[in-house]
Amino acid sequence: MENRECLKCGSTEEGTDYMPIKNSKMSMSGGNKIYTFCLECGEVDSIRIENTEIFRKK
Ligand SMILES: [Zn+2]
Repeated sequence: MENRECLKCGSTEEGTDYMPIKNSKMSMSGGNKIYTFCLECGEVDSIRIENTEIFRKK
């Protein structure tokens, strides 16, 4: 993963946080919402969804 500079404070120290997600309450399959954020000021650099296939309509 490349280190990007924070737009707010210029820090290159990044942290990540994962939040489990599902496409519906009944669904057994899930993925993660991945937050990449600045460790210095907390600015969120990106939010990414893992396993986007599960959100496709079948
Ligand atoms: Zn920052």
